[in-house]
Amino acid sequence: MSKKVKEDTIVALATPPGVGAISVIRLSGPESFNYVDNIFSGKTKLEAADSHTIHYGKIVSDIEVIDDVLVSVFRAPNSYTGEDSVEISTHGSPLIVQQIISMLLKKTEVRSAKPGEFTMRAFLNNKIDLTQAEAVADVISSRTVTSLRGARNQLDGLLSSKVEELRAKLVNISSFVELELDFAEEEIELIKKKELIEKINNIVEIINNLLSSYSFGRIIRDGVNLVIVGEPNVGKSSILNYLLKESRAIVSSTPGTTRDTIREEISIDGVLFKIHDTAGFRIGDHEIEIEGIERSRTAIKNADLILFIGDVEQGFSLAVEKEIEALNPDALKIKVLNKIDLEGKKDYKQSIQISVKTGAGMMEFINSLKMSVLSENAYSERDAIVNNLRHYNCLERTRTSLSDVIQAVDKNMSGEFIAADLRSAEMALGEIIGIVTPDDILNNIFSNFCIGK
Ligand code: GDP
Repeated sequence: MSKKVKEDTIVALATPPGVGAISVIRLSGPESFNYVDNIFSGKTKLEAADSHTIHYGKIVSDIEVIDDVLVSVFRAPNSYTGEDSVEISTHGSPLIVQQIISMLLKKTEVRSAKPGEFTMRAFLNNKIDLTQAEAVADVISSRTVTSLRGARNQLDGLLSSKVEELRAKLVNISSFVELELDFAEEEIELIKKKELIEKINNIVEIINNLLSSYSFGRIIRDGVNLVIVGEPNVGKSSILNYLLKESRAIVSSTPGTTRDTIREEISIDGVLFKIHDTAGFRIGDHEIEIEGIERSRTAIKNADLILFIGDVEQGFSLAVEKEIEALNPDALKIKVLNKIDLEGKKDYKQSIQISVKTGAGMMEFINSLKMSVLSENAYSERDAIVNNLRHYNCLERTRTSLSDVIQAVDKNMSGEFIAADLRSAEMALGEIIGIVTPDDILNNIFSNFCIGK
């Protein structure tokens, strides 16, 4: 889609709805100052106010004062959206907010903003590119310091500049190929076949590296789906409780009944673990509701990491192990033997041995959780990493077009084919940062934002 500046003026509450110290109502668009002047009574008219100034005054209806407010003025292009913008800070009352927004809607041509519309305007006005707009949503929804750091880096343009760098390389190669096309008659070779392939391979290598950062990026952004599985009484609930107690940062807790899967979110050294305790997972036990079993199976299917628990009395259940393998062959699995404080078999190879009761082996166990998802990755949230499926798909398409280029060169195909494949690669890469992005993709991205952002 071609970038275009929207002409109308929009309004929305920018702070969470509800009671608070202050609420902030935000307007953006060419009539922002004029519209607010309709209901604002202060020393200066906002239309005459300088950018980045704050004005005390009252919001008044035809009959009464609604609230004392502070109004901030941002003139285009120096605002979040790149347009003239106003922020009205009111006392934090939903009633006040509702009256002020209704009054604006009634007295002026302002319209209610759609979800993400302020950020969409920032993108359309070239204040930020598409990966940065997406990072705004990630910054807001980050729940661990690591995911916040990753999102911040994306907002600062770490991924954008990497993509820009790749595009510049592609454009450079394209220019040689296109130029050669212009001189096709003379059969001038501006770039050697070998050199062309080398350059493309160099780009593919960087793309491969970015693509393989995705599993790390996804974990940093969305967390690890962790499932605790094992026969009854081996200590699954005890392990879950221990983890919850040890990780000081419990992010959220959604306890179900004992027969539900229980969902808890904890953070271990900045990595978010979404834990499912599959209390209902018992093979061949007809007393357990089918629904509980189904829920457990779904949790296992969706898991990134499965903790398979046994104890020294029962060992590890072969039936459970087979079931896990069948449901999710790809997930990482850690075998944990619990209750080593008791007499019993302890010679289980490749299992971490613990006792929740005495605390033996628990440090090693917790560390292994974190390392199991991070150690295989040589990435850091401080690098340019891919954490978003949309970016991943665009990069894959770029890579496919580039292998078409290499094939075309190898087969001595006409320069037109090579040029066309290079253009496809450029387009796919450009979609990441929003150079050319179809409307429906844009709408999809911004509709996931909250209203007022
Ligand atoms: P679940 O059915 O797998 O969730 O198992 P629970 O966590 O409910 O534990 C079953 C029983 O084993 C409880 O009585 C626990 O107190 C006990 N238990 C859990 N961990 C240990 C341990 O490390 N050592 C000993 N001796 N008992 C444990």
